[in-house]
Amino acid sequence: MKNYKVTLIRGDGIGPEIVAEAVKVLDKTGEKFGFKVEYADALMGGCAIDATGVPLPQETIDMCLKSDAVLLGAVGGAKWDNLPGHLRPEAGLLGIRGALKLFANLRPAKIYGPLKSACPLREEIIGDSMDIMVVRELTGGIYFGKRGREMVDGVEAAYDTEYYTAAEVERIARVAFEAARKRNRRLCSVDKANVLESSRLWRETVIRVSKDYPDVELNHLYIDNAAMQLVRNPKQFDVILASNIFGDILSDEASQVAGSIGMLASASLGEGKLGLYEPIHGSAPDIAGKGVANPLATILSVAMMLRYSLDEAEAADAIEAAVEKVLEDGIRTPDIYTEGCKKVGTVDMGDAVVAALEKV
Ligand code: NAD
Repeated sequence: MKNYKVTLIRGDGIGPEIVAEAVKVLDKTGEKFGFKVEYADALMGGCAIDATGVPLPQETIDMCLKSDAVLLGAVGGAKWDNLPGHLRPEAGLLGIRGALKLFANLRPAKIYGPLKSACPLREEIIGDSMDIMVVRELTGGIYFGKRGREMVDGVEAAYDTEYYTAAEVERIARVAFEAARKRNRRLCSVDKANVLESSRLWRETVIRVSKDYPDVELNHLYIDNAAMQLVRNPKQFDVILASNIFGDILSDEASQVAGSIGMLASASLGEGKLGLYEPIHGSAPDIAGKGVANPLATILSVAMMLRYSLDEAEAADAIEAAVEKVLEDGIRTPDIYTEGCKKVGTVDMGDAVVAALEKV
């Protein structure tokens, strides 16, 4: 039987509640598809600050590096908000991505048929559903380029630099092409090549890489047009590839179009198979400990883990189908509840997905 090592970073707020449900689902999937998962718990965020004084202990990094994948709940909370920046829980998030050399962020934005009413767009725009994957470069570009402040002729000025090497563009492009291959084989690369030199290098490089993926249809959009098309006709997109800053903006826009924050998963990947999987939402301190958090984003993050780190695509499909079934059966946590449905808490939602796995 295959064995996988998964590090669990439960984190703060609702983190431990939602990770517990995702673990239940992963174990059930293992039973069904013939693999076993060995878990190790690691600290990050507020709970790590309380226990060790820092948001990302070295021990956590070492444990993650030794595992096949990492599942993260969420970190942060008011208790730690007044600490200096490098000691805040969120510093752990940046730190772990850097330590694991995760340069690609994959964020699906999907509307499930039964949750269509959560989408802010009109029905004739959205149709039956929407299913987009945003692939964002995570460790380069303007967020990491040369920056500074200076006085110019007595006037204060500041600058940040959008800087990419062709190698950085190539490796994120390959992740996007591979993702497109696992989906509907369409890739839209986003840039501002009509204005920015860095975007011209981006576009040339993506075109060069595309020669290795003749089965994937490639097109290009300028960022301003892409932002508009996402709300005008989101169904045209399958995979969107973007730089760090453009991807930051587009992935948030796409998640708003999808509507429900408790439903959206994400993956951060590096050169190898090791990946970090987490819901896109935060630690939701307002509902922590109440047993009402929606665990589906974390459960769907486990499906991404199976697909991208563990090469268990069938098991990933089964989890996604089980989530669809639960939604079709009208089972809802309060955040996605509409009249006529059955309102359940976090644990019951996890149990419902486990039960649905028997049937898909
Ligand atoms: P949030 O995503 O935690 O919550 C926003 C709203 O969405 C809240 O009303 C919350 O109750 C609701 N919500 C979020 N997830 C939900 C779920 N699974 N089920 C039901 N409702 C859900 O964002 P915030 O309130 O801005 O931030 C809270 C804390 O989380 C802050 O400390 C912030 O820094 C941190 N944060 C962490 C991450 C992360 O760990 N990746 C991401 C974003 C924010």
